Amino acid sequence: MRMENAALDLLRTVFGHADFRGEQAEIVEHVADGGDALVLMPTGGGKSLCYQLPAMLRDGCAIVVSPLIALMQDQVEALHQQGVRAACLNSTLDAETAAKIEREWLDGDLDLLYVAPERLLGGRMLGLIERAHARGQVALFAIDEAHCVSQWGHDFRPEYRQLTVLHERWPDVPRIALTATADAPTRREIVERLALDDARQFVSSFDRPNIRYTVVHKDGGGIRQLLDFLRRHDGESGIVYAFSRRRVETVAEQLVEAGIHALPYHAGLPAETRAANQRHFLQADGVVMVATIAFGMGIDKPDVRFVAHIDLPKSIEGYYQETGRAGRDGAAAEAWMSYGLGDVVNLRALIDQGEASDERKQLERGKLDALLGYCETTQCRRRNLLAWFGEHYEVGKAGCGGCDNCLEPPETWDGTVAARKALSAVYRSGQRFGAGHVIDILTGKTTDKVSQYGHDRLSTWAIGSDLDARQWRGVFRQLLAAGLLEADAERYNALRLTATAGPVLRGEQSLSFRREPEPRSRRGRRGSS
Ligand code: ADP
Ligand code: ZN
Repeated sequence: MRMENAALDLLRTVFGHADFRGEQAEIVEHVADGGDALVLMPTGGGKSLCYQLPAMLRDGCAIVVSPLIALMQDQVEALHQQGVRAACLNSTLDAETAAKIEREWLDGDLDLLYVAPERLLGGRMLGLIERAHARGQVALFAIDEAHCVSQWGHDFRPEYRQLTVLHERWPDVPRIALTATADAPTRREIVERLALDDARQFVSSFDRPNIRYTVVHKDGGGIRQLLDFLRRHDGESGIVYAFSRRRVETVAEQLVEAGIHALPYHAGLPAETRAANQRHFLQADGVVMVATIAFGMGIDKPDVRFVAHIDLPKSIEGYYQETGRAGRDGAAAEAWMSYGLGDVVNLRALIDQGEASDERKQLERGKLDALLGYCETTQCRRRNLLAWFGEHYEVGKAGCGGCDNCLEPPETWDGTVAARKALSAVYRSGQRFGAGHVIDILTGKTTDKVSQYGHDRLSTWAIGSDLDARQWRGVFRQLLAAGLLEADAERYNALRLTATAGPVLRGEQSLSFRREPEPRSRRGRRGSS
């Protein structure tokens, strides 16, 4: 227990924290004792201390691999302020400074040395590690942002793949890999690619109890619903994420017209505008930033009260990271999303038309399905979200207390017959048309297209007049989400049946659908569309 006391001492005297958080104490002890570790902790959880303290407790200097030069410099500066002997080696240094840092390291005057992966893997650096190791000057290897090793993630860094060399050449030096991206496939890949099979895994809870999750189905473009939502957050700071640059611009304009203090942010804006808008968001109160996902990395504003997605986000991990920017201060915050049939079709098309390999497309489709599963679930959303991170969230009788489904359990209806009608209408019209036209067939709406193709003579003509167009859109959205239908991006999003549609068509499988809430503005059951 001597080690633990020493660690706690350092935590208090050097870092000024009263106590360890979560599993920090165990992680520090394990690594300080020479064990390998894989640490999965949400952003803001306190990962840095997990290698900084062992670095100070063990003999020699810790080598920290970190992908972003800016983050490295921030860390080193913060450490200096606390009186910790730290430095970073990166491409921005002149030869003289780099040589000075190397000397300090080999002389045993550093506790932490941050290095970019490409620099670490250069022959020079590996040679230096060899020398330092011979002198007992390598305390541990820390691999920050370990998910960069994953080819499927957004942050893939090919050099991360070669980091196994550390383990191969210096197997006696403990390694600690850390990440906040913790879905099961990424985790498996990290273990495999970094040869961490024997590392102890420390998985923190990814639950953000102060965030309340809500998903609504788009009625039109989603703007009216967004405005309703924003009215509940009058005067508060928040972020609205939208699908594309153009969409960001229109949504921002519409919010401004509605009297909301909104600003746009996307990579297509001039650098000065972006910087000014960001500064304004950080410094002023009650600014709503309408942005693409280009906004948010490294933004540390504790009192963001809401994150809204007016369009479907790109993946569950993305959604988790983006919504995670709300409520950093621990006070109540909201994650709100609106999504519709068009979003599903758009995202599927984006994947299908992309340049990626078939293997990757398959993986992306799987991820999209998981996201749609989150949107369509009638169960606790928190549980669904955390399950993606391999975490089992026990939902009590009263629900999680922080998601729409728990707070107001949705009504469901037996959609078996409706699904069969929808699938047959797609099939009978030749699997060549988008949802709009198929819905016209189902509801018996005579249009030019219907007449042109003689679709009013199909056996499925008007068999769905018991539901209105809006309800049918809900059915199609859920059929797409469930993977019973797919949209062909190369043929104007023509719908076609997938292999899983068979049992439903044959009446062998029943389906339960979420009842679509009536739009506020319409009273009658039959909509105007
Ligand atoms: P991560 O890298 O996981 O995103 P950091 O290591 O940057 O998180 O820590 C996030 C914040 O939490 C920092 O401000 C840090 O000082 C603080 N922190 C970390 N550990 C503790 C602790 N045991 N007690 C109090 N604050 C802590
Ligand atoms: Zn819930």
